[in-house]
Amino acid sequence: MTGLKAIGFDLDNTLYLPIDELNGMIRRDIAKEVVKRKPGLGDVNEVFELCCEQYDILQSWSAVLAALEIKDTSFIEACTSNENILEFLSPDDDVCRLLDELTIHFTMFLVTNSPREFALEKLEKLAITTEYFSEMRFGDDSNATPKSDGAVFARLIEETDMVPSRTIFVGDSLRSDILPAKAASMITAMISDTRVEGPDYIISRLAELRGICSLV
Ligand SMILES: [Mg+2]
Repeated sequence: MTGLKAIGFDLDNTLYLPIDELNGMIRRDIAKEVVKRKPGLGDVNEVFELCCEQYDILQSWSAVLAALEIKDTSFIEACTSNENILEFLSPDDDVCRLLDELTIHFTMFLVTNSPREFALEKLEKLAITTEYFSEMRFGDDSNATPKSDGAVFARLIEETDMVPSRTIFVGDSLRSDILPAKAASMITAMISDTRVEGPDYIISRLAELRGICSLV
C-alpha cells in the first residue's frame, strides 16, 4: 500500500515470537490462581486444560476469567508479567534488520500493555533500541487503561500528528491490538497462523510487513 506514514507495534508476541515454554508457564500460573478461587472447577491440570481451551477461543485473560465468573482479575498482571520471560528473550536479527529498514521510511511507535520498566527490559534483551519509536505507550502510564479499551489509540492520535488512515498497527491480539486500532481508524495487520475476521492484513511473520509497506 502507498501513502503509509506510520507503523505502530505491539510488543509481546509481536516484536518477538511466542515462546511456547513461557506461555505454558503463564497458563499454569493462571490455572493455579483460578483453582484457588473456584476449586469446584477441578484440579490444576483440569483447570489448566480448561483455561487453555478458553484462552484459544477468547484471546484474552480477562475474558476467560469473566467466562469462569471470576471477578477479581488482579492476578493476571502478576502471572503475565512473569520475570522469567527475560531469560527467554534474545535478539532476532531478522526483526532488527526489518526495523532498521522501516525506520528509514516511516514514523514508528509502540503500544504495549506491559509496564514501562518491564517493557524496556524486554526491548533491551531483544536488542531493539527505543530510538526506533517516536512514541511509546505502556500499561502503567498515568492514565493507562488496557489497550482493548481503545483509549490509548484515540489519545495517541489526539496527541500527535498521526493520520490514522496512513497508519498501520501490527499486533498478535484481535481484542487488544486489532479491534481497538481499527476503532481508531488505523489500518491493521495481525500476526496469526489462522484466518481471522477483522484485520486488514494477516501475516505469519513480521517480515511480511515489507510487502504491505511496499518496500519490496
Ligand atoms: Mg501481544
